[in-house]
Amino acid sequence: MLRSHWLQEVLAEEGEAAPRLEGEHKADVCIVGGGYTGLWTAIRLKERDPSLEVVILEKDICGGGASGRNGGFVLSWWAKYLSMKKICGAEEAIRLCKASADAVDEIGRFCRENGIDAHYRHDGWLWAATCPAHFGCWDSTIEDLEKHQMHPFRVLSEDETARMAGTPSHLRGVFEETAATVQPARLARGLRRVAASKGVKIFENTPMTRLTRSTPPVVKCPGGRVRAACVVLAINAWSAKFPEMRRAFAVISSDMIVTEPIPDRLERIGWNNGMAISDSQMLVQYYRTTLDGRIAFGKGGVNGVKAFGGNVGNRFEGQSPLAGDVAAGFKELYPALADVGVATSWIGPVDRSKSGLPMFGPLRGRPDILYAVGFSGNGVGPCLVAGKILASLTLGARDEWGASGLVRPLERGFPPEPIRYFGTSLVRAAAIAKDRAEREGRQPGLITRFMAGFAPSGLSPTKGKTAEALGGLENAGPRPP
Ligand SMILES: Cc1cc2nc3c(=O)[nH]c(=O)nc-3n(C[C@H](O)[C@H](O)[C@H](O)COP(=O)(O)OP(=O)(O)OC[C@H]3O[C@@H](n4cnc5c(N)ncnc54)[C@H](O)[C@@H]3O)c2cc1C
Repeated sequence: MLRSHWLQEVLAEEGEAAPRLEGEHKADVCIVGGGYTGLWTAIRLKERDPSLEVVILEKDICGGGASGRNGGFVLSWWAKYLSMKKICGAEEAIRLCKASADAVDEIGRFCRENGIDAHYRHDGWLWAATCPAHFGCWDSTIEDLEKHQMHPFRVLSEDETARMAGTPSHLRGVFEETAATVQPARLARGLRRVAASKGVKIFENTPMTRLTRSTPPVVKCPGGRVRAACVVLAINAWSAKFPEMRRAFAVISSDMIVTEPIPDRLERIGWNNGMAISDSQMLVQYYRTTLDGRIAFGKGGVNGVKAFGGNVGNRFEGQSPLAGDVAAGFKELYPALADVGVATSWIGPVDRSKSGLPMFGPLRGRPDILYAVGFSGNGVGPCLVAGKILASLTLGARDEWGASGLVRPLERGFPPEPIRYFGTSLVRAAAIAKDRAEREGRQPGLITRFMAGFAPSGLSPTKGKTAEALGGLENAGPRPP
């Protein structure tokens, strides 16, 4: 299987996969899914109670899902503050946004303390406008936060924006200092090592084939099963196989390319730090440099590959079918680098919720089976917070995490199939048309704007309208990867 550039780099240095699960096992907690959510949850549980028997079952290898293929942007939730406020009120929203900003630092600290060489660079995030239609799309978020004396964003001058991005195509922007970048697969594999060192039993190449909702619940796999007092479903987009979760999010793709190394040219354009950049298109483009002087460039949002009925299947594996589109976007924004070769591409699934924010809690009537879904392309930092929330829920603690504003019922944000599948195609077409019109300095047509308004959250408010005014069809916040 073709892996992401990030995972290939790590696996070249690593040994064997963890064993498959064979036979009958008992555990206090069985975590299904070995991405950041599952791994942070396991680590937090062991920190809080080292005597707990914690098992992770991963169908591939830990980090084989989105955690080993993402853009490596470690972002806070500040840009999603307006959506967060709608869910849990201003006070709790501010608390959670602060917690997510702390998580960015905590990841750096955790890596240092545990010898994880995840290429952590704390150089901030530039949220940019690359055409006049996007000017000020951050205004409503900044204005609301200012009412609470919160100032996570610094508005940049036009010169500063272009200089920081290393290209004049970036016209205006705001800068969030809190953000960092990592080599995402190195982080995932490092977390796996730390979890194992704390006594978490990790089984790779071990898919959950069935969850029996007995008391206690039993997770079945091809070679055996685990009976556990609590099961944590940390399976991201693959959660769609559970009917009660299917309508809580849409599975969409995010696609990435990475260029050949060009360290000298990056130095010349002044973009050779670890700063992350996103534009403000509906089909968001996100890009950062790597330690060895490449550009990793992604395109997310309502992209080409969709999952009918939430069936992730194999369409989100391997090379990106949109690599050409992604590369074209890169060349348009960085015309001075248009001759740089693309080394490789890949695709991954994103669990896009309507609000653009995740939800955590027990499945209905089952306090012993927990879900965590809806990170919406912003999970690298937030999964650390998710680990705290899930650990508290597992232990039954009604503390600041177990009772946090994101512990909530599953959103029913999307219509059933086949309306969702075909609706997504129409919305995607509208989003593409809107982006193109705005790039070309045209006003998108009424129907285009109307249809694009159905895009799920994470999309910046349409200029001049707040998230509230849009009735939740569009919510404030950056476009997620
Ligand atoms: C291309 C791309 C770019 C992104 N860029 C960014 C970014 O720059 N910044 C950011 O914050 N977020 C980004 N994201 C989102 C981020 O990667 C995710 O939100 C985060 O990794 C979610 O972690 P997770 O552990 O919940 O899911 P995953 O890492 O996907 O882990 C879920 C795991 O469950 C396993 N699994 C599934 N079904 C089963 C089963 N039946 N049995 C056992 N195991 C199973 C999967 O194999 C997988 O390893 C991006 C995502 C993609 C795809």
